[in-house]
Amino acid sequence: MAKKKVKIDHSACIGCGCCVGSFPEDFQFNDAGLAEPVTGEAEAEAADLCPVGAISVEE
Ligand code: SF4
Repeated sequence: MAKKKVKIDHSACIGCGCCVGSFPEDFQFNDAGLAEPVTGEAEAEAADLCPVGAISVEE
């Protein structure tokens, strides 16, 4: 599946690791323990994984 542009709302992210664990090629933790996109693109399903809705994917 094609990857899409992704953004993370750091005021919402709780650092649960769901995105990093499921898509380690797309997400990594920053020094604050919050998720960051690795390349700025990710699988669209990643947005559904986040329990707090911090991941937004450009359609
Ligand atoms: S799934 Fe959501 S809350 Fe969990 S680390 Fe990723 S962006 Fe943060």
